[in-house]
Amino acid sequence: MEEGRTEKYISCKWLESGVCFDNGVYGSNIKLCCYLSAPGGGNTMIFENYHGEKIDWNRFFEIKRKYREIQKSGGTVEGCRGCIFLEESDWDGEDYIDSVIFDHFTRCNCNCSYCYTDENKKMYNKLKTYDIYPIIKDMFKRNILRAGGAIGFGGGEPTILPGFDKLLSLFIKKGFTNIRVPSSGIKYSRIIEKGISTGQVTVVISIDSSSKDTYKKIKRVDAYNTVIKNMIKYAKAQRPGFYNVTSKYIIIPGINDTKEELENWLDFCKKNYIELLVLDIENSWLTKYREDKPDERILDLIRYVEEKAKEMNFYKFELCDRAKYLFN
Ligand code: SF4
Ligand code: SF4
Repeated sequence: MEEGRTEKYISCKWLESGVCFDNGVYGSNIKLCCYLSAPGGGNTMIFENYHGEKIDWNRFFEIKRKYREIQKSGGTVEGCRGCIFLEESDWDGEDYIDSVIFDHFTRCNCNCSYCYTDENKKMYNKLKTYDIYPIIKDMFKRNILRAGGAIGFGGGEPTILPGFDKLLSLFIKKGFTNIRVPSSGIKYSRIIEKGISTGQVTVVISIDSSSKDTYKKIKRVDAYNTVIKNMIKYAKAQRPGFYNVTSKYIIIPGINDTKEELENWLDFCKKNYIELLVLDIENSWLTKYREDKPDERILDLIRYVEEKAKEMNFYKFELCDRAKYLFN
């Protein structure tokens, strides 16, 4: 397509100008995105078996163009089938990247029962990662990587990833403004704090509870007080009137699904200027729900919390994509 011209068709920003460096259940790969909860399953490959080697960018964009052509022709890339991120829009069709997910590490200082690493925590904590910094530097040098999209981390725990501070500093320095860092919250990070204070970084902490006991049942580490303390510290770094700390709550039916636990979570957030809230549902329960609709009560609970958050006037309350699928 000619530079500066756009074309209307159904696609998504990740398919068009995103990339995910992944290492985990499906091996170490470069993919279009990190979403696996679409009915099509996501997981669309650009390069398989990738371990930090130099990238042939011509080949990279050639592969991305093939996926784009499927969308342009009115079809849907198989992995993207039914994905809620597909939208009709005017796409510029240019070869560049403005959105990156760093998901190439799996080591974590937490031990959530719902985490994909639970199937073999020892192995995931030892799994080798690679230094992504030279790749990102190369992308900037070639003007392949441009500000304007979203930078995110998967993992693994980013704050214990070797080179994390240097990587995050680079994005902050390059003027990226939409950087999301999910963290267990167990290790406090000065560079995240800096990004919060400039409004460029949002830290996302899935506390999933409002008590020490529930936290321990889910996370299987005794760190509730540390995480609460760090969340408050991050919230204090926010500029007045701006919000860059997200508190997430993943409902795990039977464990943390009482109104009381959720109400206390809302109260804690309100009291500590944590105004960005995300409510989610545990993945294996969602899969079961899709098959045989086991517990409609959870849908009522989600509606209740949504209503309550509205009454409390939070700056932003969102359902995560998995929770949204319950109502679709
Ligand atoms: S699975 Fe969804 S988010 Fe990922 S590239 Fe496809 S449409 Fe986009
Ligand atoms: S904090 Fe994230 S990466 Fe770590 S165990 Fe929990 S879900 Fe997994």
